[in-house]
Amino acid sequence: MTASRILVLNSGSSSVKYQLLDMTDRSRLAVGLVERIGEETSRLVHEPLTGPNPGKREQVAPIADHKAALEAVAAELAADGLGLDSPELAAVGHRVVHGGTRFTAPTVIDEEVLAEIRSLIPLAPLHNPANVTGIEVARALRPDLPQVAVFDTAFHATMPEYAARYAIDTATADAYSIRRYGFHGTSHAYVSRATAALLGKAPEEVNVIVLHLGNGASASAVRGGVCVDTSMGLTPLEGLVMGTRSGDLDPAVIFHLARVGGLSIDEIDALLNKKSGLLGLCGDNDMREVLRRAGEGDEAARTAFAAYVHRLKKYIGAYVAVLGRVDAVVFTAGVGENSAPVREAAVDGLAELGLALDSEANAVRSPEPRLVSAEYSRVAVAVVPTDEELEIAEQSYSLVTQ
Ligand code: ADP
Repeated sequence: MTASRILVLNSGSSSVKYQLLDMTDRSRLAVGLVERIGEETSRLVHEPLTGPNPGKREQVAPIADHKAALEAVAAELAADGLGLDSPELAAVGHRVVHGGTRFTAPTVIDEEVLAEIRSLIPLAPLHNPANVTGIEVARALRPDLPQVAVFDTAFHATMPEYAARYAIDTATADAYSIRRYGFHGTSHAYVSRATAALLGKAPEEVNVIVLHLGNGASASAVRGGVCVDTSMGLTPLEGLVMGTRSGDLDPAVIFHLARVGGLSIDEIDALLNKKSGLLGLCGDNDMREVLRRAGEGDEAARTAFAAYVHRLKKYIGAYVAVLGRVDAVVFTAGVGENSAPVREAAVDGLAELGLALDSEANAVRSPEPRLVSAEYSRVAVAVVPTDEELEIAEQSYSLVTQ
């Protein structure tokens, strides 16, 4: 029997999300998450999608740390005959947020690789520590099993130097590894390829603008399957207006807040990452709530929505200019997949760029990849649900079976 299963782990600071996939048919065998790790009310939700006990199982009980969390997950999987000791498990695929300039492709993890991921913690202090913990714990549970790191930054490593550089002193930039890395790469890779498939073309044949609009949001310009620009930078703070992040702003805002407002660097960091974006503009970060309030005439919510869409339009226009020829603009992630009003507003007025929506098609809710552009639209407008777990599983599986 050849091992064909991949366990995908996405370890956050206080949560672990996981999926077990069978790569012979890309089916899901189990999905779940542990949240509020380290609190009294930790919650594990496990859902086997095969075997004798289908249906969600939930337990609320203190789970002290990531080690205890993964052990609890392993126990749940074992109860369904899907345990980590199964010879059918081919690898664990780990989402790792920051790969720096070293990691531009999925990588089998050894001591040296793990040390390198640790050394990138200063570039991603909120994310890489949890990713490292997840790797350490999974390795301890199954030392013989290949562990693969799939990096959020990797897909953007192809950006040309002039797009990756900030226009600051080069020696200073290099001394501190300051450049534009980009994030959500696994999603941009998956969605750009799936969009080419939707158009009936090979990825090399099409130029695509991907709009990944979740709580975090980023845009990318993908030429012939290769990323040439993206909106996030050194960290996920740059670019679009997001749920709680400001996206682009004049860097002098930071000096001003420090000098005139007396805020500390950590306070400014928290302000821009956690209390800005839609939340900062109107007090809500969930687009559904922003839209509901805007529909009732709430001025702050209307401004927040308009600011979100205005920034999105600017990036669409910029990436049309970067790519020259665009075959498709594609919306994905929570907002992009579900919010017809955001898609409508983002494309509105872009007929000169060759973009026009079919309002009826745009209003249809569906989990399937689909076109929402008008027949006469020169550029296809598409909605393609992202699947980062499947992409991590595919990349991990092809690495360990090649
Ligand atoms: P992340 O992975 O970044 O946490 P998701 O891609 O799951 O985020 O997206 C979450 C966001 O999607 C929510 O914050 C919410 O604003 C948005 N969302 C989900 N459903 C809808 C909907 N029907 N209309 C508008 N926004 C939605």
